[in-house]
Amino acid sequence: MTSMAEPSFRESVDLMFNRAVALMDLPPGLEEKIRVCNATYTVRFGVRLRGQVHTFTGYRSVHSEHMEPVKGGIRFAANVHQDEVEALAALMTYKCALVETPFGGSKGGLRIDPRQYEEHELEQITRRFAYELIKRDLINPAQNVPAPDMGTSEREMAWISDQYARMNTTDINARACVTGKPLNAGGIAGRVEATGRGVQFALREFFRHPEDMKKAGLHGTLEGKRVIVQGLGNVGYHAAKFLSEEDGALITAVIERDGAVVNPKGLPVEEVHNWIARHGGVSGFPDATHVADGAKVLEEECDILIPAALEGVINIENAAQIKAALIIEAANGPITAGGDQILREKGVVIIPDLYANAGGVTVSYFEWVKNLSHIRFGRLQRRQEEARHQLVVDELERLDRYLGDAWSMSPGFKEKYLRGADELELVRSGLDDTMRTAYQSMAEVWRARDDVTDLRTAGFIVAIERVAQSYRAKGI
Ligand code: GLU
Repeated sequence: MTSMAEPSFRESVDLMFNRAVALMDLPPGLEEKIRVCNATYTVRFGVRLRGQVHTFTGYRSVHSEHMEPVKGGIRFAANVHQDEVEALAALMTYKCALVETPFGGSKGGLRIDPRQYEEHELEQITRRFAYELIKRDLINPAQNVPAPDMGTSEREMAWISDQYARMNTTDINARACVTGKPLNAGGIAGRVEATGRGVQFALREFFRHPEDMKKAGLHGTLEGKRVIVQGLGNVGYHAAKFLSEEDGALITAVIERDGAVVNPKGLPVEEVHNWIARHGGVSGFPDATHVADGAKVLEEECDILIPAALEGVINIENAAQIKAALIIEAANGPITAGGDQILREKGVVIIPDLYANAGGVTVSYFEWVKNLSHIRFGRLQRRQEEARHQLVVDELERLDRYLGDAWSMSPGFKEKYLRGADELELVRSGLDDTMRTAYQSMAEVWRARDDVTDLRTAGFIVAIERVAQSYRAKGI
């Protein structure tokens, strides 16, 4: 067993990176260039609220600019700090490389508990933070494109987008400065559900490979599989909803801030979600057993465990007690490097964050492309049949110019576009293709190499190799 002390989140990501590069043949020096965070900007700004000036601290970290723009969410949380933002930015680099979205990695954070503020106050604070980042090109359609993360949603993205537009009135691509916007403000259908949908597509793909499932001691289909979900926020909610409603999985427990609800027959996800919205937690939810110490429920019997909340929740303290056969990391960094080692020794299969939660940034990519191409995806269905052919040809020509990579990411996309499929269908099918292709590239390494014993290391190898290739091609 391990005698390792628990490293910080950023050290954890570095340890995982180091495990992978030890099995690769990178030129000397390049390894360090890829690993380190290029820059982290810290800003402190004041906002006058409730009759006095409040000072806030925010960060935007740029991990790797091997491709630009760099991409990654902005998190609002009371305890967010530099180390965390840098770890998350590094994960964005590897995530984007693994699913082949043409971005470098970045991440932002604002030290704030959003629940303590009124909506108009949050708007003032968000706009002021955005102003500081825009001024330094840390929000910019060509250089750095944020998105939602913990504590933020399409509401904040709309404020950021509008702030950028006010400061850059002649930028025709202003809307592409941020993704995850509301539909009526340049967003794309299916972005809100995208990360949870990606988790579903990742599991479906894993369950298409009996030889991979065998390593976790699993067989059959998702139907009837017992699933524990930690965190019914945007990601956990959508993953749990789709897996139970569309794949017949049983959500046997939901762990939230105020404890857990358990029902071996399966919980009605929509109802639990509504209950949380009304009551602020799962306490009192009917027809379920309640457990006050939610973290203990991570250790319950199940087939699949989905940590979809915070980082570091599975660590050297509790990893040995985890009974799940398969863990899919819907959150970023939910398993520490120490926890990861213990679970590997136990033979638990982990579908790692850099792949499992990449659905969000994948659909962000579609949104960014849509904004830059200035077309409305799926508009053809509303046009007359005769006009259709010429329109299709014109639009495909335009799309081809902007969408070269996306076509190849999604072979079904062009054909569906020609049929006049609507935007949501296009987005879902593009996401499905992306998740399948990325899984194959990661799993191939896992299956083919005896020295690669886990999917995380395989995913890191594929991602780092791609980042290295782009440095080789363009120079440092
Ligand atoms: N915040 C999400 C993530 O961690 C989405 C990032 C994006 O869409 O740029 O992957």
